[in-house]
Amino acid sequence: MIWKKERELIFDTHTHYDDKQYDEDRDELLTALKDKGVGMLVNNSYNIASSKESIGLARRYPFIRAAVGIHPENADEYDKGSIDVLRELAKEREVLAIGEIGLDYHFDDNPSKDIQLECFRAQLDLALEMDMPVVIHSRDAAADTMDILKDAYTKGLICDVHCYSYSPEQALEYVKMGFYIGVGGVVTFKNSKKLKETVRQIPLQRILLETDCPYMAPVPFRGSRNSSELLSYVAEEIAAIKGVDKEEVIRVTYDNACDFYRIEK
Ligand SMILES: [Zn+2]
Repeated sequence: MIWKKERELIFDTHTHYDDKQYDEDRDELLTALKDKGVGMLVNNSYNIASSKESIGLARRYPFIRAAVGIHPENADEYDKGSIDVLRELAKEREVLAIGEIGLDYHFDDNPSKDIQLECFRAQLDLALEMDMPVVIHSRDAAADTMDILKDAYTKGLICDVHCYSYSPEQALEYVKMGFYIGVGGVVTFKNSKKLKETVRQIPLQRILLETDCPYMAPVPFRGSRNSSELLSYVAEEIAAIKGVDKEEVIRVTYDNACDFYRIEK
């Protein structure tokens, strides 16, 4: 008899299943993920209300964990009181990380740089205080993010630079600090030359698979609602770039995610 190896399970390190796009079929979709090769996922948050929803999801499903935090686009919600609330939420058993937090200079109507920087720094301090890893959101803010994270690194923080969009050189700098690089559906896009090159240059041991669902669905589902089962297409693309099996990508990134989020394998 040939021993048939059980299917490798995917770890989706970054989801938003509290998003209203799942209101119609959330429970059905999440329940089905188990049979679609998804082993574990971490729901990331964008403000206090979303942080509470992430914890709620994690309580309902044994394969879901939560990251709590205020996204830079919601930095207006930041004040001393919100950090106190986040601190209490971060103490919950289901919470593994602070995220997603960072800087987003993309839209002119985003909160001002000053407010974003203050909100970001306060949450990095909270992560240090709580001894938790951090999920970073950074868009059109490469230099400020690098400066702040270099400082965070010297203090002992470990970060996942989620939905990585900067140069391969900067990715290698983050890798040198022991950080992880979050790779999702964008890597399957034809025009994502920079991200494909980044994936080629950094070690597989530093890559985290992520959907950022409901956004960023991979080809051939680009533009539609994303979900964790589609990560298989991302794993396939990374495998092709690195010249390894898809199963190896899924297995190694699962272990990476456990290391980053400090879960026993
Ligand atoms: Zn996100």
